[in-house]
Amino acid sequence: MFEQKMHARKVPTRDGEIIGYVHSTESFGAVDGPGIRFVVFMQGCNMRCKFCHNPDTWKKNVGSEMTTDEIIEIALPYRQFWGKKGGITLSGGEIMLQTEFALELFTKCKKLGINTCLDTCGQPFTRRQPWFDNFKKLMEVTDILLVDIKHINSDEHRKLTGYRNENILDMCQFLSDIDKPVWIRHVLIPEHTDFDGYLRQLGEYIKTLHNVQKVEVLPYHTMGVHKYHEMGIKYDLERIEPPSTTRVKNAEKLLHVKDYQGYLG
Ligand code: SF4
Repeated sequence: MFEQKMHARKVPTRDGEIIGYVHSTESFGAVDGPGIRFVVFMQGCNMRCKFCHNPDTWKKNVGSEMTTDEIIEIALPYRQFWGKKGGITLSGGEIMLQTEFALELFTKCKKLGINTCLDTCGQPFTRRQPWFDNFKKLMEVTDILLVDIKHINSDEHRKLTGYRNENILDMCQFLSDIDKPVWIRHVLIPEHTDFDGYLRQLGEYIKTLHNVQKVEVLPYHTMGVHKYHEMGIKYDLERIEPPSTTRVKNAEKLLHVKDYQGYLG
């Protein structure tokens, strides 16, 4: 059933060219992969992370409709700032809901010698066809991935995001198997992810992967709460405060952040 559904999915086009639904762009991204990067935030996400600070990216098939040539045209003027490490990052929302667009864009980027980075939570990952073959092709033109692991425990992952994490960890395994560089990121949220047991478990899990260049602890913040109020969506973490510096340091220790220095090379 699922496979049929994947086949039936129609790739959106305009005048025969693939289009992507873009939420916004950022010209000088400094935290979205190596170096300075042009970041394209795509529209659409299946997950509903309770801490998401961009609920305005959730809705699918809305936003600016752009071709890959249009993206390259607006990104290229910033190339002089990218240096040896920087380039273009596709983020979201969830970029892997628009893999055909990502594949075409990154294929063009590689022809132009542009470094490519995908920022994903992995939720759409499946080894079913034709999705998996498309993903494998996408990996051939992707230099690095930023992978957000929202929770190491699948039941807790579902409570926090609406989805279980088995396929996300399977994606991490696949990326390790093909030796694709990744930076792992984890949002530290009091009462949700900030427990020594889970952090230890996540730290041990990350150790089993062979391709991790960097591990980052992202302290939960409340900067996106106003969007929920504006959009009339209930914000479930209303009384949760950002974690203390001590807890952030503790998480960094349990995730062995210092052991992952590959990104410096
Ligand atoms: S995966 Fe990202 S965009 Fe989607 S709900 Fe979670 S934090 Fe928001």
